Amino acid sequence: MTDLPTKARVVIIGGGISGCSVAYHLAELGWIDIVLLERKQLTSGTTWHAAGLVGQLRASQNMTRLAKYSADLYTRLEAETGLATGFRQCGSITVALTEERKEEILRQASMARAFDVEVNELSPDEVKALYPHMNIDGVVAGVHLPKDGQADPANIALALAKGARARGAKIVEQVKVTGVTEANGRVTGVNWQSAGDEGHIAADMVVNCGGMWGRDLAAQNGVTLPLHACEHFYIVTENIPDLAQMPVLRVPDECAYYKEDAGKMMLGAFEPVAKPWGMNGISEDFCFDQLPEDFDHFEPILEMGVNRMPMLAEAGIHTFFNGPESFTPDDRYYLGEAPELKGYWIAAGYNSVGIVSSGGAGMALAQWMNDGEPPFDLWEIDIRRAQPFQKNRRYLRERVSETLGLLYADHFPYRQPETARGVRRSPLHEHLKAKGAVFGETAGWERANWFADPGQEREYRYSWKRQNWFDNQRAEHMAMRTGVGLLDMTSFGKIRVDGRDALAFMQTVCANQMDVDPGRIVYTQMLNARGGIECDLTVTRLAENSFFLVVPGATLQRDLAWLRRHVGDAAVTILDVTASEVVLPLMGPKARDVLAQVSPNDFSNEAHPFGMAREIEIGMGLARAHRVTYVGELGWEIYVSSDQAAHVWESIVEAGEPLGLKLCGLHAMDSCRIEKAFRHFGHDITDEDHVLEAGLGFAVKTKKGDFIGRDAVLRKREEGLGRRMMQFRLKDPEPLLFHNEPILRDGKIVSFVTSGNYGHALGGAIGMGYVPCRTPGEKADDLLGSTYQIDVAGRIVEAEASLAPMYDPKSERPKA
Ligand SMILES: Cc1cc2nc3c(=O)[nH]c(=O)nc-3n(C[C@H](O)[C@H](O)[C@H](O)COP(=O)(O)OP(=O)(O)OC[C@H]3O[C@@H](n4cnc5c(N)ncnc54)[C@H](O)[C@@H]3O)c2cc1C
Repeated sequence: MTDLPTKARVVIIGGGISGCSVAYHLAELGWIDIVLLERKQLTSGTTWHAAGLVGQLRASQNMTRLAKYSADLYTRLEAETGLATGFRQCGSITVALTEERKEEILRQASMARAFDVEVNELSPDEVKALYPHMNIDGVVAGVHLPKDGQADPANIALALAKGARARGAKIVEQVKVTGVTEANGRVTGVNWQSAGDEGHIAADMVVNCGGMWGRDLAAQNGVTLPLHACEHFYIVTENIPDLAQMPVLRVPDECAYYKEDAGKMMLGAFEPVAKPWGMNGISEDFCFDQLPEDFDHFEPILEMGVNRMPMLAEAGIHTFFNGPESFTPDDRYYLGEAPELKGYWIAAGYNSVGIVSSGGAGMALAQWMNDGEPPFDLWEIDIRRAQPFQKNRRYLRERVSETLGLLYADHFPYRQPETARGVRRSPLHEHLKAKGAVFGETAGWERANWFADPGQEREYRYSWKRQNWFDNQRAEHMAMRTGVGLLDMTSFGKIRVDGRDALAFMQTVCANQMDVDPGRIVYTQMLNARGGIECDLTVTRLAENSFFLVVPGATLQRDLAWLRRHVGDAAVTILDVTASEVVLPLMGPKARDVLAQVSPNDFSNEAHPFGMAREIEIGMGLARAHRVTYVGELGWEIYVSSDQAAHVWESIVEAGEPLGLKLCGLHAMDSCRIEKAFRHFGHDITDEDHVLEAGLGFAVKTKKGDFIGRDAVLRKREEGLGRRMMQFRLKDPEPLLFHNEPILRDGKIVSFVTSGNYGHALGGAIGMGYVPCRTPGEKADDLLGSTYQIDVAGRIVEAEASLAPMYDPKSERPKA
């Protein structure tokens, strides 16, 4: 292997479509000294046998943007490289067999309109006209995406590799990376092995594009890459005479997709209980391998398929294919730099959409590596959302048996995974369960989402309309608005920043004034250089050199990574203390009365004003009471060490019950926060949303001196806002908002809802969303002078719009 260099700028590990796309896009950006190493042959892992469906509408605007980019790229690659990618814009049809599914696909069609994807809604007869081979018995509706297509996956990868080589990238087959080397917390290169030969390439960056091998390779360096292979099936028929090019057809209610392929019909499956694979490792020889047939496993799908597509009954089966593919705990792939090791980048775990995703993902990752920041919000696929425990292989094996099928399951709002549950629990879990809690899962945490009434079924009944917990949520919501409610928010991420330079460091990373008296709680954002929001948090100054940060549970790893990335030589320690304390928000006008029963401390406005944290005696224990609120009411978040949590909870509940205290869940917390227009990170605010446009300028203090993002804030103040975050209330109390519903201003779609829930006190569904200004800095009166509507599954609903929170606009209630 004398032709392998000893030094490179970046080594890409893996020559599937992912690695080839990353190489192509880095080369396109002008990078030189790119080396891609493939242990066997290009595409010999999963890529060669993919079905090649390229659907452009994904679950969010930016994922759709990436998929659309892939389709455009695959169309033009042939002209550039001379290699045909086989991309054909045959369109796709998805049909619904149930009323619930119909609502889902109509909501998807609305979303397509918001994301500028061409879409047609179809009646069953129109489905039949477009797809005559199909038996439309039971079909209640369809959606047609004319720009969707299909392609030849292996050729796309080979064309990308050819394009990368033409720009100077070195792509070498039959070379296995045996390890990534590191020193002082950053990558230094890779060790490789090839036919008895071995060596080292020094490099500052590696990209793990190792597909289903990626997890174990990452684990060698302590990097968390939670994915697990599953068996994935399709059949291809014998040649069917006169079978012409058809749109791709998806029948998710029967877990099936159909694709015409060179005069044959392919039927692929997303069965509800999948078969994890590779538990005993992957054979060293694996190269273009197939897995054994499992006809019994496939048969239920085939049976429905024969009914749906009668031609399958006559055509013989030419190929029964079973191949492994990587799946992740949340069905989303991973992109970005691993928080554990600088220079260790990842593009893997594609959940059966690696062909449609890799073009865009390669482009986005290359830009991210080039600029040091993602080109736009990629949080939903960001590797920093992975939790360290998720590398546990038993957890992964159990979870992926479900995630494969979830791709075609109805994506009901609030749908919770059913497998691999219960890994992270609050010390109060059993207490809450005994009181009727129904749990959901976030970042592995079990969280009480709502409380069932005595005798009520303790399970979700999912629907696109009101679900079975709607009235429970209303009761909990109104308890916090008019009485008092107790939550358990132990899943909050908690970080201590301590040390001589703690204040200076916090001033640099946070946009608000951190030089406050000990005990003061500050709501703030950490900004990036573009003024985008990296983190939305509260910071309590515990002492001169000690700060306590509270962040969303799901963003903890990301926030730790951001802090560590910017700490430099500052004399501070950054410590994750999440598990050490339980958080009990006690919220509502009667919160003070309840506390008076369990604590001798003074909770008056004078003794304990809003925005302050105080140590308190409570029951027979000790806690910290933070006077803040995420629901917009008088209240305290009680932070209590885990060992005393049960005692303190019992004390509060015992004292509170005579005063009408109600246990509340996360659904009620969310419906309260949206009435107050409090922003939710990941939905309403992300790293591409400017803090001023998000309406959070009140928490930015440019006069305090320099901090990350200050220049971008000053610039935006000069330029004027390009868009404004607004709150909407549907005037018809019936329809529900979740997210991604199109927002119409004066009759034209201008954007979409970023988060939605029901405003039980305001009497209608509430949504948040950005409205583009017609001219920079457009006046509030002009924005509010327009009429607004929201498209809910194709129905245009009138909406009231506001820039200030509709509930308690002057924020008087929390300070009462
Ligand atoms: C039956 C089936 C149907 C599918 N249909 C579709 C579809 O219609 N549309 C779609 O978008 N997606 C589809 N997919 C998914 C798609 O095939 C994958 O998501 C995609 O191919 C993953 O690409 P990758 O580059 O991440 O992984 P791979 O193609 O597996 O590439 C990883 C490469 O890394 C190499 N490697 C691993 N470790 C090392 C090492 N240490 N050193 C050097 N090299 C290493 C491996 O040899 C391998 O070649 C399908 C998958 C299956 C199984």
